Amino acid sequence: MFILGHIGITAFLASILGLPILIAAISSQIPDLIDKPLFLLGIFPSGRYIGHTLLFVILFGFMTYIITKRKVISIAVSFGMLMHLFEDLPYFIPWFYPFINYIFPTGPFEFQYTLKLFLLDLTGIVLLVALYLKNNGFKKEINDVRRVFVKIIKSNS
Ligand SMILES: [Zn+2]
Repeated sequence: MFILGHIGITAFLASILGLPILIAAISSQIPDLIDKPLFLLGIFPSGRYIGHTLLFVILFGFMTYIITKRKVISIAVSFGMLMHLFEDLPYFIPWFYPFINYIFPTGPFEFQYTLKLFLLDLTGIVLLVALYLKNNGFKKEINDVRRVFVKIIKSNS
């Protein structure tokens, strides 16, 4: 799946579960932010590697808890990452690596933006807009982030 589909669908599901929506939505990008750049640099054998495993989802959530001391934030982070793995299906996901050895699909980086991906991205955008309009918690999260950015911009000018 592509970026907006991941973000929108994860945000929508997080809203149903009452998790911090923005944190879950941003966390849905973590698996690709870990694996794709390291694959492109030739360090990882595949674009879905350690970042796309259950072990990494659990460890990252645990690390978030150690840093934030807030269970709900660490659950939202792990949830966002876990949703990414499900949303990447039916493509190859090394769920249980390194406990199970997988034959990683190798080869040059290829990406085709298909009609299916476009429709999933469109769905993601529609869900994000609907959430922003209907969910006060999400609206507040977005406005909090916006306020922080405005403060940073004003302090630098
Ligand atoms: Zn992925």
